[in-house]
Amino acid sequence: MNIHEHQAKAVLAEYGVTVPRGYPAFTVEEAVQAAEKLGGPVFVVKSQIHAGGRGKGRFEGLGPEAKGGVRVVKSVDEVKANAAEMLGRVLVTHQTGAKGKQVNRLYIEEGANIAKEFYLSLLVDRETSRVSVVASTEGGMNIEDVAHDTPEKIATFDIDPATGVWPHHGLKLASALGLKGDLAKQARTLLGQLYAAFLGKDMSLLEINPLIVTGDDQLRVLDAKVSFDSNALYRHPDIRELRDETEEDAKEIEAAKFDLSYIALDGEIGCMVNGAGLAMATMDIIKLYGAEPENFLDVGGGADEAKVTAAFKIIIADPNVKGILVNIFGGIARCDILANGVVNAVKQVGLSVPLVVRLEGTNAELGKQIINESGLNVIAANDLADGAEKIVKAVRGAA
Ligand code: GDP
Ligand code: MN
Repeated sequence: MNIHEHQAKAVLAEYGVTVPRGYPAFTVEEAVQAAEKLGGPVFVVKSQIHAGGRGKGRFEGLGPEAKGGVRVVKSVDEVKANAAEMLGRVLVTHQTGAKGKQVNRLYIEEGANIAKEFYLSLLVDRETSRVSVVASTEGGMNIEDVAHDTPEKIATFDIDPATGVWPHHGLKLASALGLKGDLAKQARTLLGQLYAAFLGKDMSLLEINPLIVTGDDQLRVLDAKVSFDSNALYRHPDIRELRDETEEDAKEIEAAKFDLSYIALDGEIGCMVNGAGLAMATMDIIKLYGAEPENFLDVGGGADEAKVTAAFKIIIADPNVKGILVNIFGGIARCDILANGVVNAVKQVGLSVPLVVRLEGTNAELGKQIINESGLNVIAANDLADGAEKIVKAVRGAA
């Protein structure tokens, strides 16, 4: 689960991290009130969307001369004008894709005097099973370019979970960032706070870009992006409350209600599969035959009819779906239950695209019989490759 920058900063502040003062704003009026409370002389008006690259982003409907999603201004009137221009508009950044994201809230922050911009992040490194720290002196808005062009400018070290952060980790960070004296001390303190926040809240990513040195030699967190391990959210009710469903895919929210492993994608073939591995293989083979999957869906082994019905309804309702491939290898999952779910869903909401069904394994014959007797216009497939080939042909033929 992801949260907004202003929420991430509030979480970090709980662990003692000093962050700039600021207030979220959902309306122009709230933005003005926030600016009045801050007092100036410099304000930053920041779009809050679950995507990075806002500074260099572009608003739909504004000319190329318009500023991006993060704007530094010098008066309450300018805060007002910029808030009015940004709220409700779609911001396109290199992380949002071409569709962009609508800006529904802003963060109005006191401006900082930037002397240097660094990059700092903590993340779970699956290879070492530890929290890794990634730091670079080349912070700001182009860290992707730095990673690509000059990877030697990025330092990485990990922290042993048995010992936690030790002074030598602080030294490593300070030396990676070229900090000495009091600033090195600040880096050490900050690392301890960030690590505590990371563990305490079960984060999977904590990215600060930029981490800055101010004109008066203070280390400050200017931007913060945090993702949490969804499997640990049950023990963080405070974090669950930060969820912003307007940032999430409506189909994924619906799927989560039924405890389905569903991920929306950009293709045209809807997939309903049992088992994560088989679902991945199904997506691969759809690509092999020249089309793109519209979703990942693992209905799971113990799925009942209601769950399957819900899953199939989500796929049918998706206007991007031009054809559906059901690929079931019944083990714990039973083909008759899957077949009933499919038939139920179609009865409830209809079906206007080609449907290929491959049923194999437990109760496959019964499943096939249920589908045949339902009168559904189904193309039967014998195996995975056959199914993928048939659905891609059916979709391309219809186009
Ligand atoms: P991102 O583009 O989505 O990563 O958004 P950031 O919060 O990182 O803001 C983009 C850039 O705006 C930063 O890298 C800074 O250079 C600049 N910026 C943000 N806040 C301030 C500020 O208080 N003062 C100044 N001068 N620049 C700022
Ligand atoms: Mn940033």
